[in-house]
Amino acid sequence: MEVWWKDGLPFACTQCGKCCHARGDVAHVYVNYAERRALADYLQIDLATFNRRFTRQQEDGHRLLRFRDGHCVFLHGATCSVHEAKPVQCRTWPFWQELLETKTAYQQQVLDFCPGSQAREPVVDAAEIQRQMEETEEALRNP
Ligand code: SF4
Ligand code: SF4
Repeated sequence: MEVWWKDGLPFACTQCGKCCHARGDVAHVYVNYAERRALADYLQIDLATFNRRFTRQQEDGHRLLRFRDGHCVFLHGATCSVHEAKPVQCRTWPFWQELLETKTAYQQQVLDFCPGSQAREPVVDAAEIQRQMEETEEALRNP
């Protein structure tokens, strides 16, 4: 099946930090075991301390980063303080399956909101979008 983004999509993050803020009830940054380990190592603290301080656990076992004052705990000003070790879903936004499902979903949830997606260039090609989508799905599969 041909996807609507077959010719790629322009994207150039302006690092405005908007996507690190809660949107209504949505404040979900999942962090699986490997991502938590990487973040704990980056912060030079042990995993149990990292989990306690910076995450909360859902009933299904998945952990999410905590949000305070309406944004991710790691957002300082408009800057991600753990940029080098940030979770997959932060690196791959907005190339997530649910956002790319339809043009309308992308328009409403990405183009209307994220200045980086309104850029004219560079164009991220379809193979790279597909790769990022699959990486995100794989990260979300593991608690
Ligand atoms: S980890 Fe960094 S990029 Fe991800 S939501 Fe938090 S501040 Fe934003
Ligand atoms: S909202 Fe878009 S432009 Fe702003 S930081 Fe997030 S990805 Fe980058």
